[in-house]
Amino acid sequence: MTVGPAKGQHAVVTGGAGFIGSHLCERLVEQGLRVTCVDNLSTGRTANLEALAGDERFTLLRADVSEPFSVQGPVHHVVHLASPASPLDYLALPLETLRVGSAGTENALRLAHEHGARFVVASTSEIYGDPAQHPQRESYWGNVNPIGPRSVYDEAKRFTEALTAAYSRTLGVNTGIARLFNSYGPRMRRDDGRVVPTFIGQALAGSPLTINGTGDQTRSLCFVEDTVRGLLALMGSSFPGPVNIGATGEMTVREIAEAIAGHAGAELRTEFREPAEDEPGRRCPDIETARVQLGWKPEVPLAEGIRRTLLWWGSTYAHDTDRDGVNEPSDIGSGAA
Ligand code: NAD
Repeated sequence: MTVGPAKGQHAVVTGGAGFIGSHLCERLVEQGLRVTCVDNLSTGRTANLEALAGDERFTLLRADVSEPFSVQGPVHHVVHLASPASPLDYLALPLETLRVGSAGTENALRLAHEHGARFVVASTSEIYGDPAQHPQRESYWGNVNPIGPRSVYDEAKRFTEALTAAYSRTLGVNTGIARLFNSYGPRMRRDDGRVVPTFIGQALAGSPLTINGTGDQTRSLCFVEDTVRGLLALMGSSFPGPVNIGATGEMTVREIAEAIAGHAGAELRTEFREPAEDEPGRRCPDIETARVQLGWKPEVPLAEGIRRTLLWWGSTYAHDTDRDGVNEPSDIGSGAA
């Protein structure tokens, strides 16, 4: 069972021009909602919103949510996704990442408070840091280096959760916190440094797949369509969370490399690099809360998700000659948001 928000309602989606946000905006419009996407296009792209161009139910408001912004009411849902998400992006935008997690989250919460709207926010498995418990349950408080390079993202998201919980407790805002684990699928930028687009670009170019560290670190990859169904279910409920939304098929980064090379029809060649600082060793969600509270579980098998991502990749980049599809070594990472 996955319920969602209701037809005729108005949803504001911050970060709606990004990878996950654009898929969410499309689903919401399909379900008969009016959607206002608020995005500064720092890591998102208008190309992600092509399917919605010209649709009168959809509005793109180009704005930085770290600055106060307003949206004409009524507003029934505020979904706060705005934030750089790939390590490459947030390491390049450290102050912006901290600001959008703090001031940006407060501006989005204020909007929800002003309109009596349901507020759903994308937190992340990164709040568990390099986890000492496995798999990660929502009751685990995490193991984060508060001053390491990744802290600009991890701590921003932990503050996001704290602020959201405080708005709920103090002002009665109807909030829901989703802890998203690694998502993949169409519309990930090929140069965003996350493991799936990095490996796809390299496999298709016949280059070695670059792995940080030993490649024994694990990730659990959730197809974006499943992630979006989880967000819709949380929007349609009054469950406060936090709730893990992610796939449970834990794989080592080496195994992910093998799977992607196999589906891309490429011979597997790997090249190992220095491990990234503070990169988590293991990542796998316990999704019992999502199952019980939201009736949600992932449904798209990895092989199918990779196949669909490769199809999109081919149709998007096949005629694009200004880039070779391969990331520069400094861009490569096996991390993910
Ligand atoms: P993305 O970078 O593709 O999308 C983020 C969007 O936010 C972009 O469109 C960007 O332009 C916008 N944005 C950033 N700062 C902004 C600001 N100050 N004002 C307005 N817009 C701003 O990332 P994504 O992968 O789609 O992630 C979406 C959300 O989900 C993020 O909050 C991220 O932390 C969270 N998340 C993602 C994953 C994942 O695997 N993709 C995992 C965990 C959490």
